[in-house]
Amino acid sequence: LPGASVHMNEPAMFGLAFAPRLHDSHKGTFGDVAVVGGAHGMAGAPILAARAALLSGAGRVFVASVDHGPAFDSGQPELMFRDAASFNFAGSTIVAGPGMGDSATAIRLLGKALDGDNPLVLDADAINLIAASPDLQARLAARTAHTILTPHPLEAARLLGVTAGVVQGDRLEAAREIAARFDACVVLKGSGTVIAMADGEALINPTGNPGLASAGTGDVLAGLCGSLLAQGWPARDAALAAVWMHGEAADRLVAEGCGPIGLTASELPAAIRRVLNRMV
Ligand code: AMP
Ligand code: MG
Repeated sequence: LPGASVHMNEPAMFGLAFAPRLHDSHKGTFGDVAVVGGAHGMAGAPILAARAALLSGAGRVFVASVDHGPAFDSGQPELMFRDAASFNFAGSTIVAGPGMGDSATAIRLLGKALDGDNPLVLDADAINLIAASPDLQARLAARTAHTILTPHPLEAARLLGVTAGVVQGDRLEAAREIAARFDACVVLKGSGTVIAMADGEALINPTGNPGLASAGTGDVLAGLCGSLLAQGWPARDAALAAVWMHGEAADRLVAEGCGPIGLTASELPAAIRRVLNRMV
């Protein structure tokens, strides 16, 4: 690709974007995040994303459940729960996909999110649904608002119509190809997460460890990306900062003895908050 280059993702690449909070700030200053997901049996996934969004500074965070989800999160009562089918997404940054499933409701809501001009993070089942639908792919490519895709290697493989082995064989190329195809910022997750932009720029993230190899950690990353978008960051900087901080938080938890064995996704949001506040 013309202009293609590879760099390491370091705070210097995004650090200037962290600004101290003005004294007269209010919750409206820091944006709304709506996480769309939570099919039956998967209610925890959007909650993890929502907790990450809240603890990384979003002003208000909603869980918009596709399948009559819980009424509240007793571990994080600040979160607000809505039925996705009737929720008004106007003004919210949308994180679509965590535990979303493949129901007709999920497909319809994903189409609505793609067609809108809200900043958007696409993860997990949202990516799987797009991979299975040329119609949704066209609607993704037509978007103009900030868009971040966060596939793991198998989700990336589905998007490209290849095997996960092919993706892992050239992770930089796979991430760049998805970014170019959909004119979006792509986070290809896994050891050495790749962040790729549509213009061919690509970065490899140095933080993170195998403690992250457990269920729910990707949902936390998606919520963190959405939180930074809601706080006004452009997609590139939001993705770079989110991936770096997510890995750094996991590294610090391991240094404190909370992993790598048995590290849980639930522990990440508070650790991310500590990393983030040291960077302001
Ligand atoms: P998911 O596959 O959607 O659950 O996301 C897993 C998250 O954990 C992603 O952010 C991955 O980059 C991260 N992760 C998983 N395994 C590793 C690893 N071995 N080293 C660093 N990060 C990892
Ligand atoms: Mg995932």
